[in-house]
Amino acid sequence: MICYPVDVKEIEVSAINDYWEMAPEKKTGYFYTVEEVNKKYQPMGARSISFLIKNTFLFVHNRFFFCEVCGCKSPVNNRMQLKGRILSVEGVICDDCRNRRLIEEFEASKKILADYKSSVFEARHYLDDLGFIETLAFLTISYGKKECEIVANSVDDLEITGLAGVDQDILMSLIKKKALVNISEVSEDVRKADHILHNQDFFPKSLNSRSGVMPRYNTLRPGVYLRPMNLGGGQVESIGSVVERKLKSIEVSSKEVMVVHDVIKGIQVDKLYRLIAYLAKDLRLPVRQSKVLATIVEHVATKYPPVNLFYTFRYIANGAIVEIHKGNYVPYIADKIFAKKLSSYIAFVEEKNLILDKALSIPIQFHISPFENVFSGFYLMHHLNWNKLSVSDVLAQWLDVVPLSEDAQRELFHDE
Ligand SMILES: [Zn+2]
Repeated sequence: MICYPVDVKEIEVSAINDYWEMAPEKKTGYFYTVEEVNKKYQPMGARSISFLIKNTFLFVHNRFFFCEVCGCKSPVNNRMQLKGRILSVEGVICDDCRNRRLIEEFEASKKILADYKSSVFEARHYLDDLGFIETLAFLTISYGKKECEIVANSVDDLEITGLAGVDQDILMSLIKKKALVNISEVSEDVRKADHILHNQDFFPKSLNSRSGVMPRYNTLRPGVYLRPMNLGGGQVESIGSVVERKLKSIEVSSKEVMVVHDVIKGIQVDKLYRLIAYLAKDLRLPVRQSKVLATIVEHVATKYPPVNLFYTFRYIANGAIVEIHKGNYVPYIADKIFAKKLSSYIAFVEEKNLILDKALSIPIQFHISPFENVFSGFYLMHHLNWNKLSVSDVLAQWLDVVPLSEDAQRELFHDE
Protein backbone atom coordinates (compact mmCIF):
# COMPACT_ATOMS: atom_id res chain seq x y z
CA MET A 1 0.00 0.00 0.00
CA ILE A 2 1.31 3.43 -0.96
CA CYS A 3 0.15 6.71 0.55
CA TYR A 4 0.73 9.59 -1.87
CA PRO A 5 1.35 13.25 -1.07
CA VAL A 6 -1.84 15.33 -1.01
CA ASP A 7 -0.83 17.60 -3.87
CA VAL A 8 0.32 14.79 -6.15
CA LYS A 9 -0.37 14.96 -9.90
CA GLU A 10 -1.57 11.94 -11.83
CA ILE A 11 1.71 11.59 -13.73
CA GLU A 12 3.55 11.71 -10.40
CA VAL A 13 1.48 8.79 -9.07
CA SER A 14 2.88 6.73 -11.94
CA ALA A 15 6.40 7.95 -11.13
CA ILE A 16 6.01 6.93 -7.47
CA ASN A 17 4.59 3.55 -8.46
CA ASP A 18 7.56 2.96 -10.76
CA TYR A 19 9.93 3.98 -7.97
CA TRP A 20 8.57 1.20 -5.76
CA GLU A 21 8.24 -1.37 -8.58
CA MET A 22 10.15 -4.41 -7.32
CA ALA A 23 12.17 -6.75 -9.49
CA PRO A 24 13.89 -9.49 -7.48
CA GLU A 25 15.89 -10.63 -10.50
CA LYS A 26 17.69 -7.24 -10.68
CA LYS A 27 20.74 -6.51 -8.56
CA THR A 28 19.13 -3.50 -6.88
CA GLY A 29 15.86 -5.38 -6.29
CA TYR A 30 13.95 -2.64 -8.16
CA PHE A 31 12.80 -2.42 -11.72
CA TYR A 32 13.92 1.17 -12.31
CA THR A 33 16.80 3.18 -11.01
CA VAL A 34 15.99 6.64 -9.60
CA GLU A 35 17.60 8.21 -12.70
CA GLU A 36 15.42 6.16 -14.99
CA VAL A 37 12.26 7.24 -13.15
CA ASN A 38 13.29 10.91 -13.35
CA LYS A 39 14.27 10.63 -17.01
CA LYS A 40 10.91 9.08 -17.88
CA TYR A 41 8.55 11.37 -15.92
CA GLN A 42 10.24 14.75 -15.50
CA PRO A 43 9.82 15.65 -19.22
CA MET A 44 6.10 14.98 -18.69
CA GLY A 45 5.93 17.56 -15.91
CA ALA A 46 6.51 15.39 -12.82
CA ARG A 47 8.62 16.75 -9.98
CA SER A 48 11.83 14.86 -9.14
CA ILE A 49 11.33 11.53 -7.41
CA SER A 50 13.55 12.45 -4.46
CA PHE A 51 11.20 15.37 -3.77
CA LEU A 52 8.04 13.31 -4.21
CA ILE A 53 8.97 10.45 -1.90
CA LYS A 54 9.52 12.80 1.03
CA ASN A 55 5.79 12.80 1.64
CA THR A 56 5.11 9.29 0.38
CA PHE A 57 4.73 6.22 2.57
CA LEU A 58 4.99 2.59 1.67
CA PHE A 59 3.28 0.09 3.93
CA VAL A 60 3.16 -3.70 3.53
CA HIS A 61 1.42 -6.03 5.91
CA ASN A 62 4.46 -7.91 7.24
CA ARG A 63 6.76 -7.79 10.28
CA PHE A 64 9.07 -5.18 8.79
CA PHE A 65 6.27 -2.60 9.02
CA PHE A 66 5.17 -2.95 12.62
CA CYS A 67 6.89 -1.51 15.67
CA GLU A 68 8.30 -4.31 17.78
CA VAL A 69 7.63 -2.44 21.00
CA CYS A 70 4.15 -0.93 20.63
CA GLY A 71 2.92 -2.85 17.59
CA CYS A 72 1.86 0.26 15.68
CA LYS A 73 2.14 0.50 11.90
CA SER A 74 5.45 1.87 10.79
CA PRO A 75 5.66 2.66 7.05
CA VAL A 76 8.82 3.69 5.17
CA ASN A 77 9.60 6.67 2.91
CA ASN A 78 12.26 5.38 0.61
CA ARG A 79 14.33 2.44 -0.57
CA MET A 80 17.18 3.15 1.86
CA GLN A 81 14.82 2.98 4.82
CA LEU A 82 13.31 -0.23 3.61
CA LYS A 83 16.72 -1.81 3.19
CA GLY A 84 17.64 -0.67 6.69
CA ARG A 85 14.50 -2.29 8.07
CA ILE A 86 15.17 -5.62 6.43
CA LEU A 87 18.84 -5.72 7.47
CA SER A 88 18.30 -4.33 10.95
CA VAL A 89 19.21 -6.69 13.79
CA GLU A 90 17.27 -4.86 16.46
CA GLY A 91 13.97 -5.07 14.60
CA VAL A 92 11.57 -2.26 13.76
CA ILE A 93 11.06 0.42 16.37
CA CYS A 94 8.82 3.40 15.67
CA ASP A 95 10.05 6.96 16.26
CA ASP A 96 7.94 7.41 19.38
CA CYS A 97 9.26 4.25 20.99
CA ARG A 98 12.81 5.06 19.95
CA ASN A 99 12.56 8.54 21.46
CA ARG A 100 11.02 7.15 24.61
CA ARG A 101 13.91 4.70 24.88
CA LEU A 102 16.46 7.46 24.38
CA ILE A 103 14.86 9.59 27.07
CA GLU A 104 14.76 6.61 29.44
CA GLU A 105 18.39 5.87 28.74
CA PHE A 106 19.27 9.54 29.25
CA GLU A 107 17.41 9.71 32.56
CA ALA A 108 19.05 6.47 33.72
CA SER A 109 22.47 7.90 32.81
CA LYS A 110 21.70 11.06 34.76
CA LYS A 111 20.92 8.95 37.78
CA ILE A 112 24.03 6.76 37.44
CA LEU A 113 26.22 9.85 37.22
CA ALA A 114 24.43 11.69 40.02
CA ASP A 115 24.74 8.62 42.30
CA TYR A 116 28.40 8.26 41.41
CA LYS A 117 29.13 11.93 42.00
CA SER A 118 27.30 12.04 45.29
CA SER A 119 29.32 9.03 46.49
CA VAL A 120 32.79 10.22 45.42
CA PHE A 121 32.16 13.91 46.07
CA GLU A 122 30.51 13.48 49.43
CA ALA A 123 30.90 16.75 51.36
CA ARG A 124 33.21 16.49 54.37
CA HIS A 125 34.37 18.60 57.21
CA TYR A 126 38.01 18.21 56.28
CA LEU A 127 39.53 21.62 56.92
CA ASP A 128 40.12 21.06 60.63
CA ASP A 129 42.22 17.98 59.88
CA LEU A 130 44.72 19.91 57.78
CA GLY A 131 47.99 21.15 59.24
CA PHE A 132 49.35 24.60 58.48
CA ILE A 133 51.38 23.75 55.39
CA GLU A 134 48.53 21.59 54.04
CA THR A 135 46.07 24.43 54.53
CA LEU A 136 48.38 26.84 52.76
CA ALA A 137 48.93 24.35 49.94
CA PHE A 138 45.20 23.78 49.77
CA LEU A 139 44.69 27.53 49.35
CA THR A 140 47.02 27.54 46.32
CA ILE A 141 45.01 24.67 44.85
CA SER A 142 41.47 25.73 45.71
CA TYR A 143 41.58 29.49 45.27
CA GLY A 144 39.10 30.60 42.62
CA LYS A 145 37.94 27.02 42.05
CA LYS A 146 34.48 25.59 42.59
CA GLU A 147 33.45 22.48 44.47
CA CYS A 148 33.91 19.29 42.44
CA GLU A 149 36.05 21.18 39.95
CA ILE A 150 39.05 19.39 38.49
CA VAL A 151 42.36 20.86 39.70
CA ALA A 152 44.82 18.55 37.90
CA ASN A 153 44.77 15.77 35.34
CA SER A 154 46.68 13.48 37.69
CA VAL A 155 48.56 13.49 41.00
CA ASP A 156 51.83 13.97 39.10
CA ASP A 157 50.45 16.97 37.33
CA LEU A 158 49.76 19.36 40.20
CA GLU A 159 52.35 21.97 41.10
CA ILE A 160 52.35 23.51 44.58
CA THR A 161 55.92 24.34 45.60
CA GLY A 162 57.53 22.92 42.46
CA LEU A 163 59.63 20.62 44.66
CA ALA A 164 58.75 17.12 43.52
CA GLY A 165 59.08 15.24 46.83
CA VAL A 166 57.33 17.95 48.84
CA ASP A 167 54.42 18.32 46.43
CA GLN A 168 53.78 14.59 46.26
CA ASP A 169 53.70 14.30 50.07
CA ILE A 170 51.33 17.25 50.49
CA LEU A 171 49.07 16.03 47.73
CA MET A 172 48.83 12.49 49.06
CA SER A 173 48.06 13.85 52.49
CA LEU A 174 45.30 16.14 51.11
CA ILE A 175 43.78 13.15 49.33
CA LYS A 176 44.07 10.98 52.45
CA LYS A 177 42.44 13.65 54.58
CA LYS A 178 39.60 13.87 52.05
CA ALA A 179 40.16 17.47 50.92
CA LEU A 180 40.88 16.33 47.38
CA VAL A 181 39.33 13.50 45.42
CA ASN A 182 41.60 11.50 43.16
CA ILE A 183 39.70 9.72 40.42
CA SER A 184 42.25 7.51 38.72
CA GLU A 185 39.77 5.35 36.88
CA VAL A 186 36.09 5.62 35.98
CA SER A 187 34.07 2.40 35.80
CA GLU A 188 32.52 1.31 32.52
CA ASP A 189 28.87 2.06 33.40
CA VAL A 190 29.76 5.54 34.68
CA ARG A 191 31.86 6.22 31.60
CA LYS A 192 28.98 5.11 29.37
CA ALA A 193 26.48 7.28 31.28
CA ASP A 194 28.86 10.22 31.08
CA HIS A 195 29.26 9.69 27.34
CA ILE A 196 25.49 9.62 26.80
CA LEU A 197 25.04 12.86 28.73
CA HIS A 198 27.75 14.62 26.77
CA ASN A 199 27.18 13.26 23.32
CA GLN A 200 25.35 15.95 21.39
CA ASP A 201 24.38 13.39 18.74
CA PHE A 202 22.69 11.10 21.22
CA PHE A 203 19.27 12.62 20.57
CA PRO A 204 17.85 13.19 17.12
CA LYS A 205 17.57 16.91 16.32
CA SER A 206 13.80 16.91 16.88
CA LEU A 207 14.29 15.81 20.48
CA ASN A 208 17.43 17.79 21.08
CA SER A 209 15.60 21.07 20.81
CA ARG A 210 13.19 20.15 23.59
CA SER A 211 14.08 22.46 26.38
CA GLY A 212 15.53 20.96 29.51
CA VAL A 213 16.32 17.58 28.03
CA MET A 214 19.92 18.26 27.22
CA PRO A 215 21.57 20.42 29.87
CA ARG A 216 25.31 21.03 29.67
CA TYR A 217 27.46 18.86 31.90
CA ASN A 218 31.18 18.81 32.52
CA THR A 219 32.63 15.54 31.35
CA LEU A 220 33.84 13.34 34.15
CA ARG A 221 37.40 12.26 33.47
CA PRO A 222 40.20 10.88 35.63
CA GLY A 223 41.92 13.58 37.64
CA VAL A 224 42.19 15.35 40.98
CA TYR A 225 39.04 17.18 42.10
CA LEU A 226 38.09 19.55 44.92
CA ARG A 227 35.84 17.89 47.43
CA PRO A 228 32.82 19.95 48.55
CA MET A 229 33.22 21.28 52.05
CA ASN A 230 30.61 20.52 54.62
CA LEU A 231 30.04 23.98 56.07
CA GLY A 232 26.64 23.29 57.55
CA GLY A 233 23.78 25.60 56.70
CA GLY A 234 23.59 27.62 53.54
CA GLN A 235 27.02 26.94 51.92
CA VAL A 236 27.24 30.20 50.03
CA GLU A 237 30.93 30.90 50.52
CA SER A 238 33.57 29.75 48.07
CA ILE A 239 36.05 27.15 49.31
CA GLY A 240 38.90 29.62 48.76
CA SER A 241 37.49 32.22 51.12
CA VAL A 242 36.80 29.65 53.85
CA VAL A 243 40.38 28.41 53.59
CA GLU A 244 41.68 31.98 53.70
CA ARG A 245 39.78 32.66 56.89
CA LYS A 246 40.97 29.45 58.46
CA LEU A 247 44.55 30.33 57.56
CA LYS A 248 44.27 33.65 59.38
CA SER A 249 43.31 31.97 62.62
CA ILE A 250 45.46 28.84 62.50
CA GLU A 251 48.21 28.68 65.12
CA VAL A 252 51.50 27.38 63.84
CA SER A 253 53.45 24.87 65.96
CA SER A 254 57.22 24.89 66.27
CA LYS A 255 57.41 21.77 64.15
CA GLU A 256 55.40 23.45 61.44
CA VAL A 257 57.69 26.48 61.55
CA MET A 258 60.55 24.12 60.72
CA VAL A 259 58.58 22.59 57.84
CA VAL A 260 57.76 26.04 56.43
CA HIS A 261 61.41 27.04 56.75
CA ASP A 262 62.46 23.92 54.83
CA VAL A 263 59.93 24.58 52.06
CA ILE A 264 60.99 28.23 51.72
CA LYS A 265 64.61 27.17 51.60
CA GLY A 266 63.87 24.39 49.11
CA ILE A 267 62.11 26.83 46.78
CA GLN A 268 64.87 29.45 47.02
CA VAL A 269 67.67 26.91 46.55
CA ASP A 270 65.86 25.50 43.54
CA LYS A 271 65.54 29.02 42.15
CA LEU A 272 69.27 29.65 42.59
CA TYR A 273 70.16 26.42 40.79
CA ARG A 274 67.92 27.45 37.93
CA LEU A 275 69.64 30.84 37.79
CA ILE A 276 73.05 29.16 37.67
CA ALA A 277 71.84 26.81 34.92
CA TYR A 278 70.49 29.81 33.03
CA LEU A 279 73.83 31.63 33.22
CA ALA A 280 75.81 28.49 32.40
CA LYS A 281 73.78 28.03 29.25
CA ASP A 282 73.88 31.71 28.35
CA LEU A 283 77.63 32.08 28.87
CA ARG A 284 78.55 28.53 27.82
CA LEU A 285 80.19 27.93 31.14
CA PRO A 286 80.54 24.32 32.30
CA VAL A 287 79.12 23.94 35.81
CA ARG A 288 78.88 20.57 37.52
CA GLN A 289 76.58 19.64 40.36
CA SER A 290 78.98 19.01 43.24
CA LYS A 291 79.17 19.01 46.99
CA VAL A 292 81.02 22.34 46.98
CA LEU A 293 78.29 23.89 44.84
CA ALA A 294 75.49 22.45 47.00
CA THR A 295 77.09 23.75 50.19
CA ILE A 296 77.64 27.29 48.92
CA VAL A 297 74.17 27.53 47.28
CA GLU A 298 72.45 26.44 50.50
CA HIS A 299 74.54 28.90 52.46
CA VAL A 300 73.86 31.93 50.25
CA ALA A 301 70.14 31.13 49.86
CA THR A 302 69.69 31.64 53.59
CA LYS A 303 71.51 34.96 53.75
CA TYR A 304 71.05 36.79 50.45
CA PRO A 305 68.20 37.66 48.08
CA PRO A 306 68.16 36.01 44.61
CA VAL A 307 68.49 39.37 42.78
CA ASN A 308 71.81 40.09 44.53
CA LEU A 309 72.97 36.54 44.05
CA PHE A 310 72.09 36.65 40.37
CA TYR A 311 74.42 39.64 39.97
CA THR A 312 77.12 37.84 41.96
CA PHE A 313 76.69 34.61 40.01
CA ARG A 314 77.15 36.47 36.75
CA TYR A 315 80.19 38.27 38.06
CA ILE A 316 81.73 34.98 39.23
CA ALA A 317 80.71 33.19 36.02
CA ASN A 318 82.46 35.81 33.87
CA GLY A 319 85.57 35.49 36.03
CA ALA A 320 85.41 31.69 35.73
CA ILE A 321 85.25 31.89 31.95
CA VAL A 322 88.33 34.10 31.82
CA GLU A 323 90.17 31.76 34.15
CA ILE A 324 89.21 28.66 32.16
CA HIS A 325 90.50 30.26 28.96
CA LYS A 326 93.77 31.35 30.56
CA GLY A 327 94.37 28.25 32.62
CA ASN A 328 93.92 25.61 29.95
CA TYR A 329 92.15 23.30 32.41
CA VAL A 330 90.99 19.81 31.61
CA PRO A 331 87.17 19.49 31.65
CA TYR A 332 87.24 17.67 34.98
CA ILE A 333 88.58 20.78 36.67
CA ALA A 334 86.88 23.39 34.47
CA ASP A 335 83.34 22.59 35.54
CA LYS A 336 84.27 22.98 39.22
CA ILE A 337 85.75 26.45 38.92
CA PHE A 338 82.47 28.35 39.27
CA ALA A 339 81.64 26.68 42.60
CA LYS A 340 85.16 27.21 43.97
CA LYS A 341 85.32 30.87 42.94
CA LEU A 342 81.86 31.51 44.37
CA SER A 343 82.80 29.90 47.70
CA SER A 344 85.96 31.91 48.11
CA TYR A 345 84.25 35.14 47.02
CA ILE A 346 81.46 34.70 49.59
CA ALA A 347 84.01 33.77 52.27
CA PHE A 348 85.91 36.98 51.45
CA VAL A 349 82.74 39.11 51.55
CA GLU A 350 81.74 37.70 54.92
CA GLU A 351 85.18 37.94 56.41
CA LYS A 352 85.41 41.61 55.47
CA ASN A 353 81.83 42.25 56.57
CA LEU A 354 80.89 43.47 53.12
CA ILE A 355 77.44 43.24 51.61
CA LEU A 356 76.19 42.08 48.20
CA ASP A 357 74.65 45.40 47.27
CA LYS A 358 74.51 45.10 43.49
CA ALA A 359 71.44 43.46 42.01
CA LEU A 360 70.38 42.02 38.69
CA SER A 361 66.71 41.53 37.85
CA ILE A 362 65.57 37.94 37.57
CA PRO A 363 64.52 37.29 33.95
CA ILE A 364 60.78 37.82 33.63
CA GLN A 365 60.18 34.35 32.20
CA PHE A 366 61.51 32.78 35.41
CA HIS A 367 58.81 30.57 36.84
CA ILE A 368 57.54 31.35 40.34
CA SER A 369 55.76 28.48 42.08
CA PRO A 370 52.08 28.84 43.11
CA PHE A 371 53.13 28.37 46.73
CA GLU A 372 55.59 31.28 46.61
CA ASN A 373 52.95 33.48 44.97
CA VAL A 374 50.21 32.68 47.45
CA PHE A 375 52.53 32.87 50.44
CA SER A 376 53.74 36.32 49.34
CA GLY A 377 50.23 37.56 48.69
CA PHE A 378 49.02 36.31 52.03
CA TYR A 379 51.90 37.16 54.40
CA LEU A 380 54.35 39.60 52.85
CA MET A 381 53.52 43.28 52.86
CA HIS A 382 55.60 44.51 49.94
CA HIS A 383 56.56 41.48 47.90
CA LEU A 384 54.84 39.41 45.24
CA ASN A 385 57.61 36.81 45.31
CA TRP A 386 60.88 36.11 47.12
CA ASN A 387 63.29 37.42 44.52
CA LYS A 388 64.34 40.33 46.71
CA LEU A 389 64.36 38.34 49.95
CA SER A 390 66.68 35.77 51.49
CA VAL A 391 65.26 32.67 53.16
CA SER A 392 65.83 34.34 56.55
CA ASP A 393 64.01 37.50 55.38
CA VAL A 394 60.98 35.53 54.19
CA LEU A 395 60.85 33.54 57.41
CA ALA A 396 61.24 36.63 59.63
CA GLN A 397 58.48 38.56 57.82
CA TRP A 398 56.18 35.57 58.03
CA LEU A 399 56.86 34.99 61.75
CA ASP A 400 56.03 38.64 62.31
CA VAL A 401 52.43 38.19 61.19
CA VAL A 402 51.49 34.53 61.62
CA PRO A 403 49.78 33.43 64.86
CA LEU A 404 52.10 31.04 66.73
CA SER A 405 51.21 28.30 69.18
CA GLU A 406 52.54 28.59 72.71
CA ASP A 407 55.28 26.04 72.19
CA ALA A 408 56.44 27.82 69.06
CA GLN A 409 56.56 31.17 70.84
CA ARG A 410 58.54 29.65 73.68
CA GLU A 411 61.04 27.97 71.40
CA LEU A 412 61.47 30.84 69.01
CA PHE A 413 61.59 33.81 71.34
CA HIS A 414 62.42 32.71 74.88
CA ASP A 415 65.07 30.04 74.50
CA GLU A 416 67.53 32.30 72.76
ZN1 LIG B 1 6.39 1.85 18.83
